[in-house]
Amino acid sequence: MVAAGVDVIGLSVGPDLPWLVGYESMGLERLTMLVVPVDGEAKLVIPQFEVPRVVERPGLFSIRPWTETEDPTAVVAELMKGARTVGIGDQTWSRFVIDLQHQVDGATWCNASGVTGPLRAVKDASEIEALQRAASGVDTVARALQSGEIPLVGRTEADVSAEISRRVLAQGHSKVNFAIVASGANAASPHHHASDKVIEAGEVVLCDFGGVTTEPHGQPGYCSDITRCVYTGEPPAEFVEMYGRLAEAQQMGVEAAVVGTAASDVDGAARQHLAEAAMDQWFIHRLGHGIGVEGHEDPYIVEGNSTPLEAGNAFSIEPGFYVSGRWGARIEDIVVATQDGPRPLNLVDHDLAVVES
Ligand code: ZN
Ligand code: ZN
Ligand code: ZN
Repeated sequence: MVAAGVDVIGLSVGPDLPWLVGYESMGLERLTMLVVPVDGEAKLVIPQFEVPRVVERPGLFSIRPWTETEDPTAVVAELMKGARTVGIGDQTWSRFVIDLQHQVDGATWCNASGVTGPLRAVKDASEIEALQRAASGVDTVARALQSGEIPLVGRTEADVSAEISRRVLAQGHSKVNFAIVASGANAASPHHHASDKVIEAGEVVLCDFGGVTTEPHGQPGYCSDITRCVYTGEPPAEFVEMYGRLAEAQQMGVEAAVVGTAASDVDGAARQHLAEAAMDQWFIHRLGHGIGVEGHEDPYIVEGNSTPLEAGNAFSIEPGFYVSGRWGARIEDIVVATQDGPRPLNLVDHDLAVVES
């Protein structure tokens, strides 16, 4: 906060609060906000009847409950009084921010992520351990897809998506964030919503899924995110060739993810390999995103981000190709940059699995 010139931070709904103190604010019209001054004690301003849900952390923060007839933004404004620069958690409801802006005189407002983003981007050993558990859980589900244990042909994408979700929950996850199942030409849409389309023989089936790990009360969960593709029956040679190059590009992206390398150069390493086969025209998104308590967070592995990777950064490496009207594919792993080199957390086979049609 000193380095960023921020005098006080207010954290409400969103991942910063659970990351910092293990308590997740409900997205409600009753304000919960942790007020963290650059000096002095942090205070959790919270509806009185929510207090029993808080795991207290003496020495870290104290609790300032508010009753149903109090004005919570006035309570927060009083705690922020005199601050010149106030950082607010990125997902805080505007109704609270706008009220606070009227009540805290003369302050300049900024995103708290200017402070929390770079801190959250560097994972400690216990966070990497949680990300590894998350990754191992979804690896198990991906293996069931590749082995044919999860039937595909004749089922709707939505039905398969529901089964993947159930399996993710059974693998140490408390929540599923998404379970994309995109078959045939639908695979050309990177964020396709699993539909009522029935999966047929002779199609690519792109599955991208992830969730949040189950952790003890008072500790935040960490996210998983994996993409694997299977083909229902023998794939055409053209697709096999494109998929082979994609797998190479993905591997090159992982290998480029060395501490000190600019994020943009990691993106460039994978993109260049696709460009050599004129496939970069179909790779229409960034190579990856950071992951932690939030599914997408710093660092973003994208052209234009010259920030060098730090040991402890965790992020996806997920090149793809999307040919409208025909097909698409993506391969995604979570990788941690370490002093000993890139460490992939997802270890399930990267080849195009062929399942019975
Ligand atoms: Zn995505
Ligand atoms: Zn994904
Ligand atoms: Zn991802």
